[in-house]
Amino acid sequence: MLNRQGRPTAPGEMINRGRETFSGNRALAVEEGLIFEIGRPDVTGVDLDEPAKFKPRLGGLERSAPIGLVGLSEPEAMRHYVRLSQKNYGIDTGLFPLGSCTMKHNPRLNERMARLPGLADVHPLQPLSTVRGAVALIAELARWLRELTGMPAVALTPKAGAHGELCGMMAIKAALEARGEMRSVVLVPESAHGTNPATAALLGYRIQPVPSRADGTVDPEEVKKHLTPEVAAIMLTNPNTCGLFERDVVAIADAVHAAGAYFYADGANFNAIVGKVRPGDLGVDAMHINLHKTFSTPHGGGGPGAGPVALSAALAPFMPLPYAVADADGVRFVEHAALSGGEARPFGRMCAFHGQVGMFVRALSYMLSHGGDGMRQASEDAVLNANYVRASLSDLMSLPFGNRVCMHEVLFDDRWLEGSGITTLDFAKAMIDEGYHPMTVYFPLVAHGAMLVEPTESESKQRLDEFVGVLRELAKAAKAGDVDRFKEAPRFAPRRRLDETKAAREPKLRWQPPPGLAAAE
Ligand SMILES: *Cc1c(COP(=O)(O)O)cnc(C)c1O
Repeated sequence: MLNRQGRPTAPGEMINRGRETFSGNRALAVEEGLIFEIGRPDVTGVDLDEPAKFKPRLGGLERSAPIGLVGLSEPEAMRHYVRLSQKNYGIDTGLFPLGSCTMKHNPRLNERMARLPGLADVHPLQPLSTVRGAVALIAELARWLRELTGMPAVALTPKAGAHGELCGMMAIKAALEARGEMRSVVLVPESAHGTNPATAALLGYRIQPVPSRADGTVDPEEVKKHLTPEVAAIMLTNPNTCGLFERDVVAIADAVHAAGAYFYADGANFNAIVGKVRPGDLGVDAMHINLHKTFSTPHGGGGPGAGPVALSAALAPFMPLPYAVADADGVRFVEHAALSGGEARPFGRMCAFHGQVGMFVRALSYMLSHGGDGMRQASEDAVLNANYVRASLSDLMSLPFGNRVCMHEVLFDDRWLEGSGITTLDFAKAMIDEGYHPMTVYFPLVAHGAMLVEPTESESKQRLDEFVGVLRELAKAAKAGDVDRFKEAPRFAPRRRLDETKAAREPKLRWQPPPGLAAAE
């Protein structure tokens, strides 16, 4: 038998790293190795017939040695992935306070709708006559989004928020080019999400940062200072990533328009204002909406998301193809520029087909089941919950912009930890020991040692009280100098703290068999 280091295990030597038990398991929390460590090259979970005699046509390029992949029997494979899934923490496990990411409850009704065979089993290349319902659904979702944003056009194809930013900024670029202008600068406030400057840079723009004023919001006078004829757009998040509503947003939009530039709004925080404010009324020209943040579609494990972009009248003609149309002539897709007619001058396409249709089904299901009034209440409850957390912790933890009413998320900084020897990271790791996923930490950059907490609307007062109770105990322990509790954390997680510097400096991108262990062949 080989242990994890690939050395033969001496009799009685433990296979796993755990110290308290012989097996490395902790009761029913079962330790699990990498598939390379636990698998065997001669095993497979499926029975495949030996291939019949055939003549390879690879011209001598065929593999001559075994590929060396390990396998597991079917029950072993099942256990491997179930055990890994049990180490995960998700919104179905407990409160998930990640600010800016909005880890929101995914109603099971939405899942049921997305699995209806007429929606789940369609193919993007099917003839239109066989998918009219799906096309009507896409057009209906666009109609709801136009209604909620107060903007005349919605491009549904972008596959995530960042992709939506790219789409909106490409529409802005196309509109400027149509005017014969090649502007080169995009204004980005300091509190912006990293995807904003990345998007602008990808399109070849130079980024001009705009500092926030002392209250955490953007000053229109500061924006005006940077509004040269070279400015193509401002990218502004509202509510911003400090959880604050940009109350001068209309003045900022007016100034930007007066300079011939466009207003891109990052709509990742739309869930705080749905049913309360229509971005179109604030002067927004383009805004992405993360269906996976605002409209309850799942975004675990990196996807799939969906980032529809609402466009103003000025940008609507440049909307990318394809898009669904539902009018007196019925439903159809506009797939080609020549067919789009009228003023339309689509700048191109964002993806091969029609976007993340499964996410569209879930989002529309959420909208229809809540109704306009239900969505407004969800926004109000999200804001109420964040303010409950703020008010419950403000005597112990510090708020960078004062103890003011916030929107759907509350931003703390690390001034309250000064002199304790404990950092924001230590505090976050201690939360893991207590059974909570940490809040967003060290973002936004405008707050030192930021801790951004977003409880979401679906948490009850009881669950918020438990959460706040734990944070209060931790905060008191930190203030009382219980440093080990924090520096040692997480003590009870399947893995302890990572050496993040080493991981960044010497990334191991590929598993290598440990020396001494014959490569699986
Ligand atoms: C999440 C987020 C984005 C990016 O959205 P993705 O769907 O993750 O690509 C952009 N801006 C803000 C403020 C966000 O919170």
